Amino acid sequence: MNQVLSERIKNLPASATLAMAAKARELKNKGKDIIGLSLGEPDFNTPDFIKEAAIDAIDSDYNSYTPVDGYVELKEAICEKFKRDNGLDFAPNQIVVSTGAKQSIANAVQVLINPGDDVLLVAPYWVSYSAIVILAEGNPIEIRSDIKTDFKITPSQLEAAITPKTKLVMLNSPNNPSGSVYSKEEYEALAKVLDKHPDIYVLSDEIYEHINYDNVSPFSFAAIPSMSGRTITVNGLAKAFAMTGWRIGYLGGPVWLAKACTKIQGQVTSGTNCIAQRAAIVAVRASVGKIKYMVDEFDFRRKRIMQLVENIEGFKVNVPKGAFYIFPDISSFFGKKLNGTLIENASDFAMYLLEEAHVATVTGDAFGCPNNIRISYAASLEEIEEAIRRIRQAVS
Ligand code: GLU
Repeated sequence: MNQVLSERIKNLPASATLAMAAKARELKNKGKDIIGLSLGEPDFNTPDFIKEAAIDAIDSDYNSYTPVDGYVELKEAICEKFKRDNGLDFAPNQIVVSTGAKQSIANAVQVLINPGDDVLLVAPYWVSYSAIVILAEGNPIEIRSDIKTDFKITPSQLEAAITPKTKLVMLNSPNNPSGSVYSKEEYEALAKVLDKHPDIYVLSDEIYEHINYDNVSPFSFAAIPSMSGRTITVNGLAKAFAMTGWRIGYLGGPVWLAKACTKIQGQVTSGTNCIAQRAAIVAVRASVGKIKYMVDEFDFRRKRIMQLVENIEGFKVNVPKGAFYIFPDISSFFGKKLNGTLIENASDFAMYLLEEAHVATVTGDAFGCPNNIRISYAASLEEIEEAIRRIRQAVS
């Protein structure tokens, strides 16, 4: 029946993160002892004060359709959050609440991109960016970086990638998968390039904002005065509040863009889940101190996994400053045989780890970095230690 499917869907790659997670789940269900380090999902429960707000909402009979762009109280709380954490001034009519930050990104791309427009993706980039651009019939154009520059791009790289077709640049800091965090100065240098190109928009994905280490402070691209009018800032509750399944994301941007995103959302999904939104009001208003215990625990695991991985011959790793992944360069294994299996690329390597070590990771190909794999440390310390022990054994 494949010929019945639209060209659109035939050309769309499946999400590599979700595909690997599904494969790991399937093997687990068959009784295999799989350690899943593929999905970026906190292993904490949603904090009680947020759960209580959701229970209250159910008891208070929140059950009707919600405004397409989100409850006013939630949008007001998001404006306060943008001011408090990012120094950004938004009014509620500039905010759209969506079913996860993924939908916020997809909405923004759908309303901005015409067929044939170029969208610059800074590699490594999160797996769904390129697919979302392809769905909008835009051209995903990669700007590559690697471990030598801590997976960040330089202003001259950005300049060189810009063409008359460039409409949008997608940025993500703290970065999934590299954990790199751009400083204010680094972002200002990129903005200087964009100052010369006033028709280019920027999408700044800040979903890992609160998960950062070593006193780095993630900086919002929209806080650069010349960029504020043409930057779309995306954030959500999944990562910092352990609310992946609640599906609450949001964006702040120009009023015309928020209106357009509301229009498309109104035709595709309507407003986001009412209970999750009521709980989100409490989460967004909460002080960052309330989730510090999770960040501290991620930091502890980050240090431990770095210690363990540094001893694996053939792994080259940068020190992540945010998010909860390590992104080792494993290209030294390419062209070699491990236990009789020829490793030609990162996908082979990730598959080998799944089959031989029973550890699920994600190939760097999916993030635009073919020399790397992504390992999530949003798992228990025991799982991390056992997974790395198995990986070391499988590659030695
Ligand atoms: N953003 C997470 C990850 O990169 C969740 C999975 C997804 O939606 O791709 O693993």
